[in-house]
Amino acid sequence: MIIAYMGQNVKAYLTHYLKYLESIELRCPCCGGETIGHGSYERHVHISDTIEYIPIQRVKCNDCNKTHAVIPDFISPRKHYSACDIELAVNDLEDGLKPEQIESEASIQTVRRWWAEYKDKLKQAAGALRSLLFRVFDKAVNELSMMGVKGLTLLERVLSAFPPIESSNLIMGEANLWLASHWISEIL
Ligand SMILES: [Zn+2]
Repeated sequence: MIIAYMGQNVKAYLTHYLKYLESIELRCPCCGGETIGHGSYERHVHISDTIEYIPIQRVKCNDCNKTHAVIPDFISPRKHYSACDIELAVNDLEDGLKPEQIESEASIQTVRRWWAEYKDKLKQAAGALRSLLFRVFDKAVNELSMMGVKGLTLLERVLSAFPPIESSNLIMGEANLWLASHWISEIL
């Protein structure tokens, strides 16, 4: 899987994704080889209360022959919900709301599952991003600024130390862009 910025939302993506695909260099996440287009498929994604179908482009690596889906950063790569829906729900949960109080089209069980899953995943992603920041940009995040901070807020603090990139302005989406482009597995 490759995660890329290809427009802010479904509408922009549908209009411009081919242009974005032409303009970005998509390297194989397994071996770093060059890739070529390899068809596409449709997948559904829940965007607040509607279900949208979007084409997902596939590319094939010239070197290792593996195929990879190119996922826009506004959808959650492994789930059929938008990264935005998940982020809003997790944000509310972090603020102390109960799963039953969350306004989401996802069921209470799904919201509970996100909460259980993302508590750990956000911590792992923040850790992976901190080591990436150190390794690639030779920068560290101020320890004091992260005291007692967790979840999305922690992730946001770590991301603020990174150079600006074009993204859909979602914390999880931006984290995924950095993680996926450096072949790190802690994708949210
Ligand atoms: Zn490859």
